[in-house]
Amino acid sequence: MRYEGDIYRPPSEAYSYLLQVTVGCSHNKCTFCSMYKNKRFHIRKMEDILEDLEMARKAYRRVDRIFLCDGDALCLANYKLLTILEKIRELFPECERVSSYARGSDINRKTEDELKELKAAGLSMVYVGAESGSDEVLRRIKKGSTSAEITAAVQKVERCGIAASVTFISGIGGQELTVEHAVKTGQMIREMEASYVAILTFMPRPGAPMCEAIANGDLVIPSPIEAIEEIKMILENTRGLKKTCVFRSNHASNYLNLKGNLPEDLDRLIEMCDYGLSHQEMLKSEMLRML
Ligand code: SF4
Repeated sequence: MRYEGDIYRPPSEAYSYLLQVTVGCSHNKCTFCSMYKNKRFHIRKMEDILEDLEMARKAYRRVDRIFLCDGDALCLANYKLLTILEKIRELFPECERVSSYARGSDINRKTEDELKELKAAGLSMVYVGAESGSDEVLRRIKKGSTSAEITAAVQKVERCGIAASVTFISGIGGQELTVEHAVKTGQMIREMEASYVAILTFMPRPGAPMCEAIANGDLVIPSPIEAIEEIKMILENTRGLKKTCVFRSNHASNYLNLKGNLPEDLDRLIEMCDYGLSHQEMLKSEMLRML
């Protein structure tokens, strides 16, 4: 109920109660991200977090979903997360889903038993920003993790019963790395077997360090057509994926809306990319795109 600074959440948490457990991001170095650059990372006092939950209970008659903010709430020690989850269960028995952002390193730091404890206490989904399957792209954007580390983290939470919703960003490698980014991202989607995968399209955020590279010409953002070709190439490289995954590329930043399940809808999604490439008039105009 009380928030420090700007609050961000995944689009699918639009109707969730947002509980701030940390302020900022413990990494805070990604060059494309400006979300928490003006926040000094810290963990909120447990008494304040629990008090917020009491206040929310008084304010809202029904709370179906709760999202733990800010950038990587899963960095908290398990005993703290368990205290929060137990309080949620006590105060909001109707709550069907508790979720948070998580970095690959947050997940990998926890044992499988700890992750299973979190699942049993009510954590049902984590949102992981993978951004790219290419280690070169990840190095350039200062993600702080390799694709193998993120893949291992996603596989680990899924094994423990927590659904992973993984986001990639089309265009994040610029024109220079588009093929490398697309091929490796498709391969990573195939290997990690997440429950949900989303592909956004890169838009520079004011205040993000990457804006400087764009301004001085070191990074050239792919055109709308190149962005769709890149997404098509990502999809083509998921061929061979065995576990069903909900695929979405229908974010406000995308030029073309794609929605389906992989691998079942793979050919249809590729055909939709081809249709968009040959009917450019149906692509979202630059004015209507947003993050
Ligand atoms: S993208 Fe995620 S991990 Fe990177 S700085 Fe932003 S919030 Fe932190």
